[in-house]
Parts: sequence; structure tokens; C-alpha cells
Amino acid sequence: MALEALRQEVWKCNLELPKNGLVKMTSGNVSGRDPETNLVVIKPSGYSYEDLTPADMVIVNLEGDVVEGHLKPSVDTATHLYIYRHRPDVFGVAHTHSPYASSFAALGQSIPACLTTTAMLGGEIPLGGYVPIGGEAIGEEIVRRIGHSLAIVMQNHGVFTIGKSARQATKMAVEVEEIAHITHLALLRGQPIMLTPEQIADVSDLYTFAYGQK
Ligand SMILES: [Zn+2]
Repeated sequence: MALEALRQEVWKCNLELPKNGLVKMTSGNVSGRDPETNLVVIKPSGYSYEDLTPADMVIVNLEGDVVEGHLKPSVDTATHLYIYRHRPDVFGVAHTHSPYASSFAALGQSIPACLTTTAMLGGEIPLGGYVPIGGEAIGEEIVRRIGHSLAIVMQNHGVFTIGKSARQATKMAVEVEEIAHITHLALLRGQPIMLTPEQIADVSDLYTFAYGQK
């Protein structure tokens, strides 16, 4: 994908965060990596979604140098870049403090695999330990703990999702919040029925090979 197309895609993905109720004001961000140049398009720091235009998006290299853009990149840029440098299969990262998922973060709980949608993300959504915000250390903890999941809950903080595109990472951020919401409601009323590893593997295969168009 050409860099300009990626800029448009990442801009649209960022707008999906407030549209889906995952962020308030300026929090949250989505980035995407161009497979040809390894350049990363990311949201500018502390910038409101309402004012965001494609030209405001910041382009950085994997070392964090701004290659293009008139604004400062997101404070979470170092985290995104660490993930890209250590996960060559990842081309999109999203980060939110979406409320239901972040309530699991506040409790220091992973999100159990009691829904087929949870299985779609790889099963139980793992918990990463507490890490001070704004640096590479969050990226290190994510890479260490995320395993084959497409999402992780970071203790006392929020959610990071990954994908083979910015679009997929964004979709997973929406899915995680819905999963967290339903799981929360279920936990209020009883003990959710957990999926077996076989059931998780079946759903995961279906999602990988049969889901969507093409
Ligand atoms: Zn955050």
C-alpha cells in the first residue's frame, strides 16, 4: 500500500475510535506500518479527533524520527514502534482506554474466553503488568505477554490491539470493548461458561480462513 493510501486509512481508523465510543477528547491512537518502507503513520499527540485531517497525521521511521508532518507524534509512539520492531507480522496497532475493557485493567484481570468473539481474537485476552506510560517499556511488556492474541489488557491502564493492518487493529479494539462489556454483565449474574481450547482453535481457524469477503 502506498504511503498516501496508508495515511488515509490510518486517519479513518483513528476516527473510528470516538465513533465507536472507545475514547474521549484526545485519548487513544491508531497507527499503521507501510510494508514497503517500514514507515509508520500515527496520530499526532493530544490532538482532538474532530479537528484531525489526513495532513495532520505524523509519519515516523521505526527509530522514532519524524519523516513527515508538522505535529508531534502521539506520546505512545515509542510503544507502537517497539511492537513493530519486534513483531514483523504486525502492521497495525490501536490503543484505547475503553471503559469496560479498562475496568479489567483496573482489577488486574485478563478477559476470560467465554464468547466466540473472544476466541476470534485468539482466546483469553491476556493481562500485561503495570508499566509507567510513555516509553518503550510498555511495548516490551506487550511483546512479552501478548502471545498469539490480537489484544492485551495493560494493568491500571487500558487496551492495546494489533493486527495485520491498521483496519484490523481498530476492529479488534471495537471487539475487545464489546467482549469486555458482555463478559462484565455475565460475571454479574453468574459464572460464565468457558470455551475449551478445541472450541477456541475451531473459531480461530474459521476467522483466519473463512471470515469476510475475498
Ligand atoms: Zn493510554
